[in-house]
Amino acid sequence: MAIIPASCKCHLLPLLQPPQRLPSPPHVWPRPAVTAPTSRRFARLTAAAISTMSPEDASLKKGIAELYDQSSGLWEDIWGDHMHHGFYEPDSAASDADHRFAQIRMIEESLRFAGVSEEGEKRPKRVVDVGCGIGGSSRYLAKKYGASCQGITLSPLQAQRAQTLAASQGLADKVSFQVADALDQPFPDGQFDLVWSMESGEHMPDKKKFVSELARVAAPGGTIILVTWCHRDLSPSEESLKPEEKALLDKICSAYYLPDWCSTTDYVKLLESLSLQDIKAADWSDYVAPFWPAVIRSALTFKGFISLLRSGWKTIRGALVMPLMIRGYKMGLIKFAIITCRKPE
Ligand code: SAH
Repeated sequence: MAIIPASCKCHLLPLLQPPQRLPSPPHVWPRPAVTAPTSRRFARLTAAAISTMSPEDASLKKGIAELYDQSSGLWEDIWGDHMHHGFYEPDSAASDADHRFAQIRMIEESLRFAGVSEEGEKRPKRVVDVGCGIGGSSRYLAKKYGASCQGITLSPLQAQRAQTLAASQGLADKVSFQVADALDQPFPDGQFDLVWSMESGEHMPDKKKFVSELARVAAPGGTIILVTWCHRDLSPSEESLKPEEKALLDKICSAYYLPDWCSTTDYVKLLESLSLQDIKAADWSDYVAPFWPAVIRSALTFKGFISLLRSGWKTIRGALVMPLMIRGYKMGLIKFAIITCRKPE
């Protein structure tokens, strides 16, 4: 395990068995090369998506696109098409958990928390999946509700893979994906009765702009679901996190291309400032605790390790900081937050 820092070895030794109950990968990696015309089209779209930004934001977004271009195939092979935490019973062991079930449960629990209706006319009909990865949520929601879904991501490879998977599941007329920036969404106002952002908010350099875009594209009466990584709320006497907390988050930020974090309360205040209604928030950190140990375990299998080495430095660097996510949760610094609200009619 040469790539895992020596200091982590003891901590990780119990994780060295193969992952259990992770179904076998759906297909072979590396995938066939992206065909040139499509790849060039997506590359042009990415360039357009980053051309109007500050150099700092442009470099962050280029890094995010490259990180997901490089790592999505590996993730899909080992974990499937949902690139987000699972929702587990509290205190369940990573080794016993059914991780793919837990990821679906995360979607279901989020919908339930937000009070999204399952009934006929009230079901969502138009959904936007903001930061869609390879489209796992979009396809799930399209199937569940018969809704049409549009996904956006910064990664050309993800957009293309998401589209391919949709076509292979007979969903090509229901879901579509494109390379576009969540901070400048390519949609008119008031389009979507469900605005879905599953673990993409942490990448957004301007949280205010992010939240206002979510609100802008929501239809009157539409639901917004934001599931994201936050730092802990500050106490009334604090003005910022402690230096050691900032240092830990900085390391995570450089590996995962994340800008500054905010707290759940910061998000709630932003939603309030936009006069959104029925704002609800919860800390689900305890429900996601088995996730990172399981991801580390899967990276340490023979297959996971070899694929990791092949998928490039950005992915390897991401793997190296995984233990810091666990530490952040244990310190109470990192919070897995769900925040939901409704746009007024
Ligand atoms: N929601 C997906 C993927 C989460 S990974 C899932 O649950 O499976 C984070 C995703 O956010 C990636 O697809 C990444 O490209 C996207 N993302 C990050 N910043 C973005 C931005 N500014 N605009 C659009 N997508 C963004």
